[in-house]
Amino acid sequence: MTTTLPAYDEVVARYEPVIGLETHVELGTNTKMFCGCPTDFGGEPNTRVCPVCLGLPGSLPVANKAAIEATIRIGLALNCSIATWCRFARKNYFYPDMPKNFQISQYDEPLCVDGYLDVEVNGETVRIGIERVHLEEDTGKTLHVGGATGRIHGATESLVDYNRAGIPLVEIVTKPIPGTAALAPEVARAYVTELRDVIRSLGVSDVRMEEGSLRCDVNTSLNLPGQEWGTRTETKNVNSLRSVERAVRSEMLRQAAVLDAGGRITQETRHFHEDTGDTTPGRSKETATDYRYFPEPDLVPLAPDPAWVAELKAALPELPRLHRRRLQQAWGLSDADMQSVLNAGAVELIEATVAAGATPAAARKWWLGELSRRANESGVELADIGATPAQVAELQGLVDAGKLNDKLARTVLEGVVAGEGSPTEIMTNRRLEVVSDTGALTAAVDEAIAANPAIADKVRSGKVAAAGALVGAVMKTTRGQADAQTVRTLILERLGVSA
Ligand SMILES: [Zn+2]
Repeated sequence: MTTTLPAYDEVVARYEPVIGLETHVELGTNTKMFCGCPTDFGGEPNTRVCPVCLGLPGSLPVANKAAIEATIRIGLALNCSIATWCRFARKNYFYPDMPKNFQISQYDEPLCVDGYLDVEVNGETVRIGIERVHLEEDTGKTLHVGGATGRIHGATESLVDYNRAGIPLVEIVTKPIPGTAALAPEVARAYVTELRDVIRSLGVSDVRMEEGSLRCDVNTSLNLPGQEWGTRTETKNVNSLRSVERAVRSEMLRQAAVLDAGGRITQETRHFHEDTGDTTPGRSKETATDYRYFPEPDLVPLAPDPAWVAELKAALPELPRLHRRRLQQAWGLSDADMQSVLNAGAVELIEATVAAGATPAAARKWWLGELSRRANESGVELADIGATPAQVAELQGLVDAGKLNDKLARTVLEGVVAGEGSPTEIMTNRRLEVVSDTGALTAAVDEAIAANPAIADKVRSGKVAAAGALVGAVMKTTRGQADAQTVRTLILERLGVSA
């Protein structure tokens, strides 16, 4: 079915979007949520399993304290109230990658409730309400093989890997977010970005969207101004920050087309497609009663000691937003300059380069200039470019000491990125150091003068501008390693002309 989509500007002029985000974060604990199996990514299928996470009869779960602590810290960082008493619940449904046929989750008694996260969008602060933060266990993974797309359609068989089953998973649910109008897609992206940074600063998860340790479901609805909120759809497992933004936008356009044609929105889950940027229907959305939740009888209730919670709160690190503000001040950057640092993903890199001894201006110059350009060209994240903050600081140290000029420094950096060693090693091995020895330079100057007698005569007769050609000749014989200004002064000196 092909429908012509309306223009985005028209959609936001006619409709008001309401968005909401559900984010799942795999915790980086050493062991699973209810058993002692290891959690690290990438093991051979079904090698990190035991009777508990395989749901074998008679096995009993025991809650992982480190996971509870991590969830409370996330809740505190998101300004939530922490329950003094709550329970796990069974969420019943059948799926091959869930061996017990129920998931241990939390239902009406989540561990953390009613918080908020402030995010910046176009220089404005938007406060996103947090409905709840709860703890549950992850499912296994189903792999459909034999088909072209990796989806079940067209597959000849399906394989199940239970290594992921039982890994602690934190679900963070926002309150509905109305009033964002045309900015809805950007607000959604800014929220997930900020949430990722907050969780990373807590050190409780590696929050890698591409490895699935942070997964996002995006709820979107449209309503006419002044009317009740519309029926929402839930776009599942959106796997990058850019996709979060695209998924909201594409759902807004699709729903507007349906509503414009007099249709109704079906409450359903939808799949986002990276390649086309649009969504297709999944299953019609279950309601809570479909899951027949009831309190988990095999686990005792959870009653975190308020004194422990207060201790965790006092020990929270500086959160990213405040940290960024402090850095911006220390580095003396305008809002726009700070924004380009953020967009380049260079905050931590610059911070570490400054810590290694470079000035903020020099650190920013390398990371946002030469290194960003190389990262873009080779399509990698700046942090994965192959140069470390310590190496960048060392390179700048060589420039400051007069051993490298800007052009040579860029050549050295090329070697660093190629893995040839430290800047000093590359400078030495490739003999890139600036020639500052006047004796060697004078010899090169005399050679250039002798090789270009006509030009030398011109300069002697007062045409000082002609000296440029001689400077060029010397730079060539010294392979760009001389200081051009020094060369020029020497040439004029040797030809008896005052500068
Ligand atoms: Zn296990």
